[in-house]
Amino acid sequence: MDCIFCKIVEGAIPSKKVFENEHVVAFHDIQPAAPVHILIIPKKHISSMNDVESEDWYLLGEIHSAAQQIAREQGVAETGYRLINNCGPDSGQVVFHIHYHLLGGEKLGALNA
Ligand code: C5P
Repeated sequence: MDCIFCKIVEGAIPSKKVFENEHVVAFHDIQPAAPVHILIIPKKHISSMNDVESEDWYLLGEIHSAAQQIAREQGVAETGYRLINNCGPDSGQVVFHIHYHLLGGEKLGALNA
């Protein structure tokens, strides 16, 4: 499968990883939209929120658990941060391997800016 995030999981494409466990990998976004911009993804290929099957819902818990730890480590747990999942064309999703953006490090703009 030709998925750029699967290649990052495998290490075939380099990334600046900040977190990894059995289920989840997190790395710096190559085009940061905020001082802290981390992408958190499941190792398993799931194209989007629309494609999460019942046996995989726990992976979203794993992603949120990673986000909590990463926010602390990146120094934004207290100042605040945003977790965003884009799903489908109107959201602007461009990589079809489900991922959450963790954004922080500055006062963030309006949600629908
Ligand atoms: O949610 P969406 O699909 O729009 O976001 C994909 C994100 O993946 C973008 O912010 C882009 O900069 C990032 N990206 C990356 N490394 C790649 C390819 C894309 O960090 N090799």
